[in-house]
Formats: sequence, structure tokens, C-alpha cells
Amino acid sequence: MAEHYVIVGAGECGVRAAIALREQGFDGDVSLIGDEGHLPYERPPLSKDGMLAEVFAAKTIASAEQLADAGVTFRHGVRIDSLDREGKSIVSADGSTIAYDKLLLATGASPRRLPGVAGKRIVYLRTLDDARRLRAELLPGKRLAIIGGGFIGLELAASARARGAEVTLIETLPRLLSRAVPEGMAARIQQRHEIEGVSLIFGDGIAEIRHGADESSVELKSGRVIDADLVLVGIGAVPNVALAEQAGLSIDNGIAVDNRLATSDPDVFAAGDCCSFPLDLYGGRRLRLESWRNAQEQGNLAASNMLGANRTVDTVPWFWSDQYDLGLQITGLFDEGTTHVARDLGNGGTVLFCLKNDGRLVAAGGIGHGNAVAKDIRLAQMLIAAQSRPSAAALGDAGVSLKRLL
Ligand code: FAD
Ligand code: NAP
Repeated sequence: MAEHYVIVGAGECGVRAAIALREQGFDGDVSLIGDEGHLPYERPPLSKDGMLAEVFAAKTIASAEQLADAGVTFRHGVRIDSLDREGKSIVSADGSTIAYDKLLLATGASPRRLPGVAGKRIVYLRTLDDARRLRAELLPGKRLAIIGGGFIGLELAASARARGAEVTLIETLPRLLSRAVPEGMAARIQQRHEIEGVSLIFGDGIAEIRHGADESSVELKSGRVIDADLVLVGIGAVPNVALAEQAGLSIDNGIAVDNRLATSDPDVFAAGDCCSFPLDLYGGRRLRLESWRNAQEQGNLAASNMLGANRTVDTVPWFWSDQYDLGLQITGLFDEGTTHVARDLGNGGTVLFCLKNDGRLVAAGGIGHGNAVAKDIRLAQMLIAAQSRPSAAALGDAGVSLKRLL
């Protein structure tokens, strides 16, 4: 009988894994199961171009034909509620049982909820349905309050301004993007939002949100009150681990996998936003990455290892964000280093390199118009992967090609 490989979660990671199984020669049965009622779609446009397009259309990751051509049985609108590892089967919400030989959990993440806050004007942004609803309400003159100065909040602030809405963004900490983005780059983003008319409030928290008949009032701990037609909460994402937890798999800031993406059960793998994994490049430090590229790479890797390849994760973290015409890209981990060196690209773009005490390049971030920093960040990523120790003088000199430092 043909082997059956099952993937739970039809997002970026799950879809990539399903197709990669075929690309890598698997000739058994492949099932891809997702609980959303759509064909698999890309999330990045939901806060960016998707919000701005004349007609809102989801960007599909794979069409029904592509999945069928790859011999992938795709079931959408099916939620998997339990996992029986001994019996090697999963059970869906409607009670049907699906047996597997190997299982991949690619269940992604969900928005972190603001405790004690609910109501029809409180919205989160993770899914296509969320985006459709939000977009319909982002009209000229509407007042949007955004809680959280992270990526969702900032990208949505830019899109909302482009759609003519008034935006007030509230961040508890003294600056934007404090975890992932160095101060100078965050300052440039902040300045741009201010120029575009976003009202930014720092160092204040939410005391209470009251809902009236026509509007909501966000009362801050300082006593200040922001009246809004809609309140978007963007305070991070939590990994979807319920299935793994119920099945007794190890959890550690996500489904804990080894450096081959195997869970504590050798027939069950996990990948993408839902898992944490040790990354050898940073001394085996356990990370959970919430980025599009990582979801793709781990989907590919999980497929290889389900087929017995025994490959280890060798990624260098990378992600991007677009706000207005500014493009931001970050590679590596800034909190691994101590010294920063800036390079002015001369095209309005700046790249900031981050070195460890021993001179090793551990991260780089760039900001500029459109794709201005893309080439330099790609080369920086290669230097990081090679564990290079380029001189600070060379990094800071735009006349020295990064290619030459490789
Ligand atoms: P997900 O995309 O979350 O997919 C998991 C799927 O599994 C979901 O459909 C979920 O409903 C389903 N599922 C969960 N549990 C079950 C179950 N029990 N049964 C069945 N199905 C289940 N990253 C970047 O690098 N750059 C960007 O610019 C960027 N922009 C973004 C913009 C937005 C608005 C959002 C929300 C994310 C953005 N990201 C961006 C992050 C990127 O989209 C994610 O890292 C990526 O989607 C993760 O893919 P995934 O497949 O691991 O998880
Ligand atoms: P995020 O980028 O992690 O930012 C969350 C923000 O909320 C941070 O400013 C954080 O501040 C703050 N916060 C965290 N916990 C809080 C709490 N309990 N109360 C109040 N504020 C809190 O997450 P996000 O913007 O919500 O995005 C959600 C997911 O979508 C993430 O997976 C993200 O990676 C993904 N996404 C990515 C992109 C991109 O890569 N371009 C774009 C959109 C969405 P602290 O610094 O104090 O934690």
C-alpha cells in the first residue's frame, strides 16, 4: 500500500512542503489539510499592496490545478482537532480519522489577544477574512487606533494613510520595532510615519476600551483618551501548538523540533511559524522565526527530511517590510552582536552591519526606497552564512564591494 504523508496547515510552509515532496520524488499519497475556507494564499500582501489594490484579490500560493497536478489532495475548511501518535492518525473537527505514515505540523501562528478586550470594533489581522473586513472599513476620514508598534501595526498604518484614514498608533515602549530593528533604522521609519501624518504615542499602555453606539474610546494608562471607529491590535503572534501539546510533543516557544525539524516523535515534523528550532550558526540557540522566507525554506527542508535526507537547518534569518515607498530588510540576528557599522549606499539607502566582539558579522539591516538595499542585504546574508570577519573599515566604505569580502 502507498505511504501517506499528511500536512496539517495549508499556509506558506505547508503548501511548499506538499509540493516539495513531489519535487523530491515521493510517489506515495500526499494530503494537505487547512482549516481556512480558501485556496492557500500569501499573507504579506494582506497588510500592504492587498490593502491598496483597486479590487481586493488574494494572491494564491498554489491554485487548485497546481495542487492537483502535483498529486496533492487538498482539503480546506477542515480543522484537525486531535493527534493520536500511537495509532498514527489525526481526527478532524467533523470526526473523520485520517491515518498517516509521516506527519508535518505547519500550523503557523495566531495573533496575540489583548486580554480583557473584545467588541465588534476590535480587529486583528492574520487571515484573508480579517483583511477583507478591515479594508472595507478603512475609508477616508475614518479614525483607526492601532495598538502595537510592530510590523502589523506599522504596515497597516501606512496602508490606512494611503486610503485616507486617520491613524493613531500606541506603543508601550519608547520606540518602534524594539525587538527586531536597530534604533537608527526604527527612527527613520518613525520619522516617515510622522511625515505621513500618523500620530504616534510612546510609553503608554491601554487602561480600558469602551464601546459606544458609534465609536470606541481607548483610554490610556496616562488618562489620555483616543476615540476611534476601529481598533487594530497588533501585539505579536503566538504559535499554534494545541495539537502538538495535546499529543504530548515537546513545546518550547512553539513546537520544539531538532535541527532537522523532527519533533520528539520521529514520524512527526513541524516547520514554519509554529516551531522553535536550534540554529547551529548561532551556537545552537533556539529560535522561532515568523517570516515568509523561513516558512518556505523550512517547508522544503521538512519535506526532504520526511523522505529521510537528514539535512540540518542552515538558514540565515531574513525578512522584509514595506511601508510607504520605504523597503526594510533584516538578515541575521542583531542581538548577537555589539558593534554597529553603517554604510551609506549613496542611493538613499543605508545598511547597518552588526559585528560580534570577535569581529564576526552576525546581522545586517537595510532601509531605502523600494529595493535599494536588496543586493547589499543578499551579500551580507552570504557573509553571515560564511561566518566572515570583514573589517569595520571595509564594511563602512561603500566603495568596497561586499562581493569582494566574500
Ligand atoms: P501560516 O501562514 O500561519 O499558516 C498556517 C495555516 O495552518 C493557517 O492557515 C492556519 O489556519 C492553519 N491551521 C492551524 N491549525 C490548524 C489545524 N489544527 N487544522 C487545520 N489547519 C490549521 N513575513 C515576511 O517575511 N515579510 C512580510 O512582509 C510579511 N508580512 C506579513 C503580513 C501579514 C499581514 C502577516 C499576517 C504575516 C506576514 N509575514 C511576513 C509573516 C509570514 O506571512 C508568516 O511567517 C508565514 O505566513 C508563516 O507561514 P506558515 O505556513 O508557517 O504559517
Ligand atoms: P510584532 O512585529 O512581533 O510586534 C508586536 C508589537 O506589539 C511590538 O511592538 C511589541 O512590543 C508589542 N507587544 C507585544 N506584546 C504586547 C502586549 N502584551 N501588550 C502590548 N503590546 C505588546 O508582531 P505583529 O506586528 O503583531 O505581527 C504579527 C505577526 O505577523 C508576526 O508573526 C509578524 O512577524 C508577522 N508580520 C510580519 C511582517 C513582516 O515581516 N514584514 C509584517 C506583518 C506581520 P515589544 O517590543 O515590547 O514586544
